Amino acid sequence: YKWTQWIFIKLYNTWFDVDAQKGRPISELPIPKDIAAQGEQSVTKYINDRRLAYYDNAQVWWCADCKTVCANEEVLTDGAHEKCGNQVSKKNLKQWMLRIPHYAERLLQGLDTVDWPEGVKDMQRNWIGRSTGAEVKFSIVDSQESLSVYTTRPDTLFGATYMVIAPEHPLLHSIVSNEKMHEVQEYIVQAAKKSDLDRTELAKEKTGVFTGTYAINPLTNTQIPIWVADYVLMGYGTGAIMAVPAHDTRDFEFAQKFNLPIICILDPEQADKELREKVLQGAACWEDDGVYINSANEHLGIDINGMSKKDGIATIIAWLEQQGLGKATVNYKIRDWLFSRQRYWGEPFPVIHWEDGEISVMDESQLPHILPELENYEPGDNAESPLANATEWLQVTDKNGRKGRYETNTMPQWAGSCWYYLRYIDPTNNDEPFSSEAEKYWMPVDLYIGGAEHAVLHLLYSRFWHKVLFDLGIVSTDEPYQKLFNQGMILAFAYETKTGAKVTSDLVEEKNGLYYHIETGEQLKQIVAKMSKSLKNVVNPDDIIAKYGADSLRLYEMFMGPLEATKPWTENGVKGVFNFLARVYRFFADVQNIHDDEPENIAISKELHKTIQKVSDDIEQLHFNTAISQMMMFTNACYKAGRVTKETARLFAQILSPFAPHIAEELWELYGGTDSITYEPWPKVDSALLEDDSVVYPVSFNGKRRFELELPKTMTKEDIEQTVLADERTEKWLATEKPKKIIIIPGKIINIVV
Ligand SMILES: [Zn+2]
Repeated sequence: YKWTQWIFIKLYNTWFDVDAQKGRPISELPIPKDIAAQGEQSVTKYINDRRLAYYDNAQVWWCADCKTVCANEEVLTDGAHEKCGNQVSKKNLKQWMLRIPHYAERLLQGLDTVDWPEGVKDMQRNWIGRSTGAEVKFSIVDSQESLSVYTTRPDTLFGATYMVIAPEHPLLHSIVSNEKMHEVQEYIVQAAKKSDLDRTELAKEKTGVFTGTYAINPLTNTQIPIWVADYVLMGYGTGAIMAVPAHDTRDFEFAQKFNLPIICILDPEQADKELREKVLQGAACWEDDGVYINSANEHLGIDINGMSKKDGIATIIAWLEQQGLGKATVNYKIRDWLFSRQRYWGEPFPVIHWEDGEISVMDESQLPHILPELENYEPGDNAESPLANATEWLQVTDKNGRKGRYETNTMPQWAGSCWYYLRYIDPTNNDEPFSSEAEKYWMPVDLYIGGAEHAVLHLLYSRFWHKVLFDLGIVSTDEPYQKLFNQGMILAFAYETKTGAKVTSDLVEEKNGLYYHIETGEQLKQIVAKMSKSLKNVVNPDDIIAKYGADSLRLYEMFMGPLEATKPWTENGVKGVFNFLARVYRFFADVQNIHDDEPENIAISKELHKTIQKVSDDIEQLHFNTAISQMMMFTNACYKAGRVTKETARLFAQILSPFAPHIAEELWELYGGTDSITYEPWPKVDSALLEDDSVVYPVSFNGKRRFELELPKTMTKEDIEQTVLADERTEKWLATEKPKKIIIIPGKIINIVV
């Protein structure tokens, strides 16, 4: 993991230049004059705030089961830990974070340049979550402070009748009135006990407390109350919202519960009469488009009533910018990537925490920074890392006698997987992570096959690292993976009773194609399900290999169906493929079937080259199943012919070798191959042999097509005429008549005029 630590140091020493949309060395970061004037501490803070890797307090996800923190991307939508399924909770901890949001725009734009499944691209786009809108400043009554909100719909500002701030909002304490202080503080304590999911789920009852303070809606110039409520999270936008209850369901429910004003500003013209009436009165919520009403203030000279949505948004943003009350902004949902774990086996961070509070990264020459031997690998209950037990290993003293401790957290498994494809091209290089010649030759990855479940984990993380390495000139391509292919999942049969209860496979017996419960005798239904321990329907590849051999397993997986399809495993299918391989071996390993004494029979030569062509094309397109079908057909043709030349047998072994390498290697040796078949160049197709030498003629009588006749391409007009007239079907269609004229266009048609 030496080079993973090396890349971490690069990340630490890089900042993102927003104007250039590019990562640059931290040494090139311009320090503003006023910061420089404040002294060294301010400069250090300024720099640290811009590093792509930083160490700070953060509200992080914590899995009590695994006793480790985890990244946003590792928490599933239902709040479960991706690794173990346990519900995660939030904890405030000092951790290492990576500023992946700085690359949000680059990560989005890069998606347009790669050949990936649209589904995976969309998952990344949604995760990055770009939205355009405006930041709006609300001044607070009797206060110097102002409250900023981010909204994608600044055009609905006329309908903002109250504001809500998150319980964690840093301004909350300075906003709350004295009378409300106690109540608000109690509310904050309650909110801290809930998960984000509990707080934001639509179905949940809304809670909140009035802060006793008002803000001013800049467009209506009215005072609107500021509430604190936990349905607003600190993580998205600014942690405060302007509530437009007439047109947002959450705000509407909240306003109804706490009796706050609801002003309709979008007339739902397309709604039915009854609903429209309710919406206009503020008795129902309308989230779709409508026609602006109540959206003018003549004192301010602003009026968007009747405008289109696009113009409405543009007009309000222009006005806010002109007044210095807001600006158009782009917002991203993606958050900093939590990059440390309380695990023994990750890469240790090449980082030292000094007793005076300074944090420094190790010198590259000191890498690798190796894990200590430990008796106890278990993480502590309270987020202490196992490395905290390595008391001796931890200590470090610099040349001035200053004491420090090595970082005790380790990197997540994603660290190595972020760049392993780069190391694979030059794995024994001791001087650098990979040579630039190798990188230029191999990169980007032409074809990456993997499951869609990594869409917003590995596939997003590694694109981020790759882009940083690209900006630093370490790799030559902006994107790591040119083409991505998601293979389908292999399922297995499972069994259930009439009531839908699952029965484990070891309790099922088959009789005449029907399935029964061994103990109760009840007839069961066969279904297709994911392989799982609980259903006992997991197929262990080792068992299949022991029974049928590795070639059969491999070939069957390719033969099951299209690579991208989800399909059930059947042992009968394995048997079928096993039989095919046995058939191949019986024919091609039998010396009596392989000769060297005369040229190959033309029919076999043609079938062979057709097969080479088909297998070559199908491999390119990942259509392995149809390539195998073609090889089965070729084998049948060989059996029919009885014997083939050694050259034919050698060529067949070569095209079979990527599919069934063991048998192919065996045959290769039998035909005198001395080196592995792997080193043979792929067979070339003789295109002359691909041409069909016969033509299928439609035979017509007075222009009406009656039957088809296959004839050699080289046949002369005279011979064609004779053959057609001799055909018994011609006799039948002619009946008693005599043909007046026979029109023959060679290679095309035969028409008999009667
Ligand atoms: Zn867990």
